[in-house]
Amino acid sequence: MADRDCAHLNAITIVKHAKKRECDECVKTGDSWVHLRTCQECGRTLCCDNSRNRHASRHAKASAHPVIASAEPGERWLYCYPDDGFAEY
Ligand SMILES: [Zn+2]
Ligand SMILES: [Zn+2]
Ligand SMILES: [Zn+2]
Repeated sequence: MADRDCAHLNAITIVKHAKKRECDECVKTGDSWVHLRTCQECGRTLCCDNSRNRHASRHAKASAHPVIASAEPGERWLYCYPDDGFAEY
């Protein structure tokens, strides 16, 4: 799928999509977010780096889950944190 040297992106054959259009963590605390990302390892949907809480990045570091997909309507891309890799699908 990816044309980059990233084993994480290359390993993804089926993209996990958001089950709900909300950040799993922000809804608990009543916070708001800017964009949503879905973890491709466990399927959790969390908020992006433009959001106050940056839950997707924090989750990726804390759980060592490398790849997220955009959960925004019309966006079809994946991002790998450790390799700073980007791929459209
Ligand atoms: Zn990677
Ligand atoms: Zn959040
Ligand atoms: Zn995850």
